[in-house]
Amino acid sequence: MDWNFDDSYTRLPEPFFTRVRPTPVKAPVIVVLNRRLAEALGLDAQAPMGPEAAGMLAGNRRHPSSRPIAQAYAGHQFGHFTLLGDGRAHLLGEHLTPDGQRLDVQLKGSGVTPYSRRGDGRAALGPMLRECLVAEAMHGFGIPTTRGLAVVATGETVFRETPLPGAILTRVASSHIRVGTFEFAAALDAGVDIPGHSAPRAADGTYTRALADYTVWRHYPALIGEPTRYADLLRTVMERQAALVAAWMRVGFVHGVMNTDNMTVSGETIDFGPCAFVEQYDPATVFSSIDVQGRYAFGNQGRMAQWNLARFAETLLPLLDADPKAALAIAEQMIGEFPALFERHFQTAMRSKLGLGNEEPDDPALIASLLDWMHRSRADYTNTFRDLSSRVAMEDPQRANPGFGRPDFMAWHARWTARLARQPAHFEEAALRMRGANPAVIPRNHRVEEAISAAVEAGDLTPTQRLLDILADPCSETLDGSDYRQLPTRDQQVHETFCGT
Ligand code: AMP
Ligand code: MG
Repeated sequence: MDWNFDDSYTRLPEPFFTRVRPTPVKAPVIVVLNRRLAEALGLDAQAPMGPEAAGMLAGNRRHPSSRPIAQAYAGHQFGHFTLLGDGRAHLLGEHLTPDGQRLDVQLKGSGVTPYSRRGDGRAALGPMLRECLVAEAMHGFGIPTTRGLAVVATGETVFRETPLPGAILTRVASSHIRVGTFEFAAALDAGVDIPGHSAPRAADGTYTRALADYTVWRHYPALIGEPTRYADLLRTVMERQAALVAAWMRVGFVHGVMNTDNMTVSGETIDFGPCAFVEQYDPATVFSSIDVQGRYAFGNQGRMAQWNLARFAETLLPLLDADPKAALAIAEQMIGEFPALFERHFQTAMRSKLGLGNEEPDDPALIASLLDWMHRSRADYTNTFRDLSSRVAMEDPQRANPGFGRPDFMAWHARWTARLARQPAHFEEAALRMRGANPAVIPRNHRVEEAISAAVEAGDLTPTQRLLDILADPCSETLDGSDYRQLPTRDQQVHETFCGT
């Protein structure tokens, strides 16, 4: 594989990472290779998936330019602070693509590291396939995300509640810098005892500054040298996260574990654990078996993003102003602006779902009223919007979806079409905009389960591959009649996704 690895991350002070090699596995076999992504990385996408490539993607072989590390980080998990780190992942390096991008290439499930705590350093095939599938869908929706380049079956068994086939995912990300990485830096500055390190306290924010400067260099180079760059960094990350979470809500995505260690500063979606998609619309939807409080429910994700960004802002305090009181005032003011910022992104996303290219004061009410109708009638989120996305639905809604014939819906429909008529764009143009914003297919939970069980129980990767192919272009016109639009039967319904990974 034609990797071209750099390792700029190792310019950070030593507590931020540990040099550690993957632990070889018994019998690696590539079961999924994302050739579209391989091509985008400038790799030979047609290269055979033989033992050499499998060995490299399993961590058994090391590319000459790779100097693997595990990254240290911390995070608030369900509200509680913990020291963490890559407990089962190795960053092979930052691949420099022919078109000048710098992308992290990480193996996940590649063995223990100093951050493994009591974990085995391994991953099971099912969750790694899920991550690949959902990430590919995100990418297809045009939503910033880490992606899966490959899944390698290890030929080893991992023990969770039951014995399961082991696997390693190759994950590609613009970086793995998390809000939790900043929390780790702030913990170093605060002199928190880090196992294996006796770093002196640096109240002036030495470690945080090093990480912030690195982040600016890597993700936001336009801010280099700006006197207000740290406040600008906070504002930019707030912007990215507001846009990201609004985009999730556009497609009905429930991340499931929005802990601060699962939130990137690049604004990419990361760590697909018990994630799933809303079907019958309900803002209280939760799938994760461990989220008993509904902390990360569908409709709560904007608030949780703000909560996480407040943790991010806290880490930046020493950099925002030398006077702690002034720094706090800056941070509080900025974080206080998040709800309005998020609402703007959310409304823009929802207007695009309704084909609205301009803005009117009553749009939020129009949107809320449709969501309310969907909630009351248990309508499918994806299909409702997709069924609305045609000229036919604008003129004769009942033909697009029999449920649209109900009087309460017709009342809303009249408001909507009157609103469409008031914008300069033609109906046809509005419908086109809607089909770009409203996917025809999503990785429906029962389809993901079906693909995963075929792979895990019968070694059959055909459903996974088919789903991956379909999700590469989820808004495509030709998919309207696809069986992937069908709702689960009662037996197929997925109410809970297991968090065990
Ligand atoms: P995640 O739920 O994947 O975001 O992981 C949360 C934390 O637990 C991260 O620090 C992981 O590296 C660590 N972790 C998860 N599973 C394992 C495992 N099997 N072995 C070691 N560490 C793990
Ligand atoms: Mg994580």
